[in-house]
Parts: sequence; structure tokens; C-alpha cells
Amino acid sequence: MAEQFSHTPRKNRCPAAIRLAWRDHFSDDELDRAYAQVAKETWRVRHCFNVPVQFTLIDWLDLRVRAHHCCEYCGSGEWELVIDHYIPLIKGGAHTKENIRVSCARASAVRVVSASNWQRGDHTRTHSNISKAIDRARKAERESGA
Ligand SMILES: [Zn+2]
Repeated sequence: MAEQFSHTPRKNRCPAAIRLAWRDHFSDDELDRAYAQVAKETWRVRHCFNVPVQFTLIDWLDLRVRAHHCCEYCGSGEWELVIDHYIPLIKGGAHTKENIRVSCARASAVRVVSASNWQRGDHTRTHSNISKAIDRARKAERESGA
């Protein structure tokens, strides 16, 4: 697998064998995007964190199929799905299939907002927590804009 994630400057294309194996679940475009996502995240984990890379494109595709192509935090399928570390890397989380959740871009962004929840020891990422975090963020935005 390792050679598939070499840092080639060429356009990120999902390998043909993987396209063939996963064509029942993903379109070619989706596979190319997933490939690019994993390659980018692998680069980020290697260069920005001192964490071993134990997460492959196959793992990511498998997680997404198991999550029924929806966000594991809010259940939405209308946003782009991104790689999300349940325990953040900066808090000692691992870059492994077990610590990675399929998250929509929105829920992943909200986690930044709900970092205070994390510090208070609330590790759940429930729909209501996310809704509350969005409300708080909107309120803060209104207040700072006023
Ligand atoms: Zn979501």
C-alpha cells in the first residue's frame, strides 16, 4: 500500500485496482477525492504531528461504507465527508481506523467551537451538542458583529 501514498506531484488519482474493487460503493470522482483526502491527511500527520501513520485509503473507504456515506456525528449526508480524529491528534489521539470518524465538514468545524466542551470533559459528540455549539457560535458572531 505504501507506494500508493508516495508524495508524487502528479494529480491525485485513485489506483485502478481500488476503483475496480470499490466501484459498487463509490463513483470515480468520489474515489479520487477520497484518495486525495487520505494522501493530504497522511502528509499532515507525518509532518505536523509525531504520530505513526496507520490509516490507509482502504480503511477510509471501509469506514465511509460502514457509516452509510453519512456523518457519524450528525447523520447528514449533504456535506463533504472529512477525516476526523475522535480524540484529536494534539490531545494524544492516534491516526488509526479506531480513532477516525466519518464526519461532515460542518460537524468537524463545529468541533473547534466545542473545544471548551472537550476541556470540561464532555467527550460526546452528539447531535444536540453540535446544535448547541452552532447556536453558541452564531450568538458569539452576532455579539461580535453588533
Ligand atoms: Zn455532520
